[in-house]
Amino acid sequence: MLVMKFGGTSVGSGERILHVARIVLAHQDQQPVVVTSALSGATDALLALAQAAAAGDDAACASQLEALVSRHHEAALAINPEADWSALHQKLELLGAAVQDALEQGEPSSVACDSLVAWGERLAVVLVAGALHILVCPTLAWDRPIVATDEHALPLAGSTRRLAEEALALAGKRLLVVPGFIAHKPDGRMTTLGRGGSDYSATLLAAALQAEACWIYTDVDGILSADPRVVKEAQILPTVSPQMAGRLSYSGAKVLHPLSVAPVARLGIPLRVRNTFRPDHPGTLITAQPGKHPGTAQAITSRRDLAAILLAGEGLPEVAHLFGRMCQVMTRAGIEMVLSVHPGTGYDPQILVKAAQAAAAVEQLTQEFASECGHGQIQSITVREGQAVCTVIGEELGGAVLAQVQHTLAAEGIAPLVQMAFPSALSLVLPDHELEHAIRSIHRQVIEPSLRKQGAAPAYSHKATLAALNDDEEPERRVAASCL
Ligand code: ADP
Ligand code: ASP
Ligand code: MG
Repeated sequence: MLVMKFGGTSVGSGERILHVARIVLAHQDQQPVVVTSALSGATDALLALAQAAAAGDDAACASQLEALVSRHHEAALAINPEADWSALHQKLELLGAAVQDALEQGEPSSVACDSLVAWGERLAVVLVAGALHILVCPTLAWDRPIVATDEHALPLAGSTRRLAEEALALAGKRLLVVPGFIAHKPDGRMTTLGRGGSDYSATLLAAALQAEACWIYTDVDGILSADPRVVKEAQILPTVSPQMAGRLSYSGAKVLHPLSVAPVARLGIPLRVRNTFRPDHPGTLITAQPGKHPGTAQAITSRRDLAAILLAGEGLPEVAHLFGRMCQVMTRAGIEMVLSVHPGTGYDPQILVKAAQAAAAVEQLTQEFASECGHGQIQSITVREGQAVCTVIGEELGGAVLAQVQHTLAAEGIAPLVQMAFPSALSLVLPDHELEHAIRSIHRQVIEPSLRKQGAAPAYSHKATLAALNDDEEPERRVAASCL
């Protein structure tokens, strides 16, 4: 069995969905199960719709709903105007009713919001299954979640396996198409796996079904040495270890959801990232036996829009369990610590959080350390905005790579605020406005030379191609020319 997942750009229009269906059919002998994302931009549009409903803005709801409905209608017509799309029409009506409910409720609950956003993937399932059907492939469109979670939205392997087996049994000889991203909690309420979560759905499903392989189809050639939107010269990494892929995605490489590598890595199921628009390209294979390249920097990733929360005070070393308490407070409040620094000097601890969570982090810390602030041990809890972290990833990165990175940045006049070096990753905290300059410099001076030694080749990026053409909605004939 082969799990094939297609991202939003891959299913962005009727023509693209037909193209996806042809890719799936080309692998029919491998018993594919298809996981689809929502059409590109549909999740953002649904989130905006939920917000408009929360604000009670009828006019905005009506126009945004109308735009979503026509986008899906157009896709269906492009797939086949003659086909029976009644399942799609029914679902679009249900979406309309859900929007009406949300408007009446005023402030939709998080469950109502998740149920609304879930329509992106549920509608995409109908379109992808419809396209397969038209290419004479009997299909089951499973429009419910295929992933089960606990009440905190953490996936449950056993319940997911039962759901997957139920869906497969119902599909029989038909090809199964399921939605990514959405999941349900034990009481049946809808939840999601977070933005970009369809990758995670695919690997959870592959693990549940003990699939032979899981392929993530996206709009670039595979995992690249950098984000191609920032570094034009980004190169493809043909094989990557699960640990490296995990580090890459967790530290900001958007191509894979941060949690998506673990479920298949645990079972040794090979994961491949491939380009929908160049389906013959082998992509990147994530395998426990990648080529070994000790001492080389292979990729650079980044996270931006961060804020550093800084504690200062002469009495900091006197505060019992200072750092542990800082971390506990963040965990309790559900605030992600993107990076945290516990200096061995007793002074200057800091935590990097998403900028949008900085005010909440300060509030929580101020409450926790009210007494220490009162006694003057802690003199200030401040926020340094506009921060970013970039991470150089490789194997057995020794002092030489650290020195190369430091030398490169010094030559460009960039001074990192924090540096953390581990054998497989080197993280640097920088002001956000210096990030892209730093990434390009490190890629050019440190990563490209080491990849050149390994014989890596530049990668094709569909998004970069579109940007270069300055053309968001690429004519389909150009897609066809490049991919078939
Ligand atoms: P999908 O919709 O297929 O899930 P995403 O937009 O989530 O696709 O992820 C693919 C995008 O990730 C690429 O278009 C690319 O711009 C971006 N990206 C960032 N870092 C990397 C990287 N290291 N390798 C490949 N792609 C990357
Ligand atoms: N549609 C969801 C999102 O846009 C999930 C995904 O595409 O992976 O975040
Ligand atoms: Mg994605």
